[in-house]
This record gives sequence, structure tokens and C-alpha cells, in this order.
Amino acid sequence: MNRRGKRKIYPIFLPNAGCKTRCVFCNQIIMTGETIPNIAELESIDFSNVDEIAFYGGTFTGLNKDAMKRLLMISPDIPKRISTRPDSIDEETIALLKDWNVQVIELGIESLDDGVLECSKRGYKAEEALKTIEHLKDEFEIIAHLMIGLPNDTRQKDIRTVQLLLDSGIRVFRIHPTLVFKNTELEDMYRDGLYTPLNLVDAIDTVAEMVALIECNNGQVTRLGYHVPQSQMEYLIAGPYHDAFGDVVRSTLIRKIIEELHIKKVTYSTKYKPWFYAHGNAGLLVERQEIEDVDNSDVLLFDELSYAQSLELLINRLERNPRIEVI
Ligand code: SF4
Repeated sequence: MNRRGKRKIYPIFLPNAGCKTRCVFCNQIIMTGETIPNIAELESIDFSNVDEIAFYGGTFTGLNKDAMKRLLMISPDIPKRISTRPDSIDEETIALLKDWNVQVIELGIESLDDGVLECSKRGYKAEEALKTIEHLKDEFEIIAHLMIGLPNDTRQKDIRTVQLLLDSGIRVFRIHPTLVFKNTELEDMYRDGLYTPLNLVDAIDTVAEMVALIECNNGQVTRLGYHVPQSQMEYLIAGPYHDAFGDVVRSTLIRKIIEELHIKKVTYSTKYKPWFYAHGNAGLLVERQEIEDVDNSDVLLFDELSYAQSLELLINRLERNPRIEVI
């Protein structure tokens, strides 16, 4: 753990390694500026101060078994986390992951709409993704990765995807808006007029609704939006990018609660203060009472409603008054 009590995760990035196909939006070397690391160099690193080693990027379980084993054998006592996709994991691999101390699987679901999956060239259907979750969920902690704004996607499909995942037992999510990067098939689709990215306002609005649904079902969102390194910004061609996407989503969600539920007063621990002031919320017409963070106090009230109750009411209201959408 570091001084703030957070687990120290050592990230090792394996861009596009093990992927059997190329999804239309993906070129991880362009998106991250990372290249495949040398295994011998990784083996020489001292990981003694690390709580967990994470293999991000690519399809870890699509690597050949020898490479997979060699990577998992690095500091074998340290728990591992891997990223993969739902159609690249079989019984033999599951056994290997368990044997080699893999505890968390970051599963690239992206969508549970077959049309979206097909247009994005994901190579599997929703049913297969749900079966994989069923298979893995008792053995590993699963973090579901979702994308919004993929080809053929709509807000309703995004909300339905979240609902299906919650129903399947998933409680931890990462959500990203689709961005158009250079040297991807999506770039060609965009330039040929076959793909229109979401605008930033719609992307933020949709993700705020997804977060509300997740959090009112005891779920959590561990990351929102992409980090695009400064060195790679020149390759970002289009799409709803914001360097503080997650903070804007959070402020938008708070604003929706206050406005939709006609909240008169908010009471909150100091740690939540940015939620009520940042990204346009300073002008909200609501009485604010701030409670000093003493003994890790955790106060978050909208009039007399708890945060969870507010989210539930907000979701009900949005379900009753869905925005008109052409599918
Ligand atoms: S999105 Fe994931 S599975 Fe698809 S090409 Fe990129 S790394 Fe591979």
C-alpha cells in the first residue's frame, strides 16, 4: 500500500499483444505510445514494494502459453491482474491463471449489443460474453470495460448493456467514449462518412446515466474516459475527448440530481466539495452545507435523501421520461 492506503499496482503494458483480430477503433501503439516490453528486462525488476502486477493492453489470454506462463512467473507471490476479451479464454487458461495468482480480470466487453459488436469487429456476440462472465465470476474479480459511441451504438443500448452486466453480477466498471485515432479502421470509416463520433455533451450525459445506474446498484466505476498522453495527441483525430472526462461526468451527475429532483439543500463532507463546484456547478442554485472531514466522515445528502436514494429517484425519472432517440 502507498501512504494514502491505495494498493500499489505496477502496470506493464502489452499493446495489441495476443489479439486474434483488430477491433475497428484500436491501435494501442498509436493510442498509448507504448511498445511491447522485453520479458528479460521485466524479470530483472525488483517488485518487492508492489502489491499487484497488472498486464494491461492486448489480449493476455491470447498470448501463447509459454509467454503467458513466463509473464505470470515474474514475482510469483505478487497477485496479478490481466486484461483480456470474452472470446479468448478457455478452461486450460482459466486453470493456468488460477495457478499463477491472477486475481483480477479486466474484461473488455465494450457492448452487449450484437449489432454494435459486429460493426466494431469485436468477433463475439453478447451471449458468448455473458457465458464467459458466468464462467469467471466465482474465481476472479471481474472489471468490465465498456465503450460508448461505437459504430451503430445508441444511448439506450449503452444503458441496456450496463443493466445486463449488473444482472449478471458485475459490480465494477470502466467506461470510455470511443475516440477516432490515426491508423485505425475507424479513421477510414470516419473519413468516408460512415461513422460519426458522439459529441462531448452527449457522451458525458450518457456516461453520467450509466454511472447513476451502476452506483445505485452497489456498483462502482473505477475509471471514466481515456488518458491520451501528450505525445499521442497528434494522432487523435475526432471524438469526445476531455482530459478530465471523469470529473465532468461526476459534476454532470450531481447537477442532474439537483435539477431533476428539485433539491434545495446539499450537505456534504469536504472531500466531495469539487462535485458541487467544479465544471459549471458553482452556479447551481442550491444551499450548501459543508461538513469537515473528521474521522473519515462520509456525509452526502440531497435534502434528506442519501446519495443512493437520490440516484434511484433520478433513474426512475429518466426511465419515465426517456429522451427521444432514433435507433
Ligand atoms: S480492443 Fe482489445 S481486443 Fe480489440 S484489438 Fe484492441 S487490444 Fe485487441
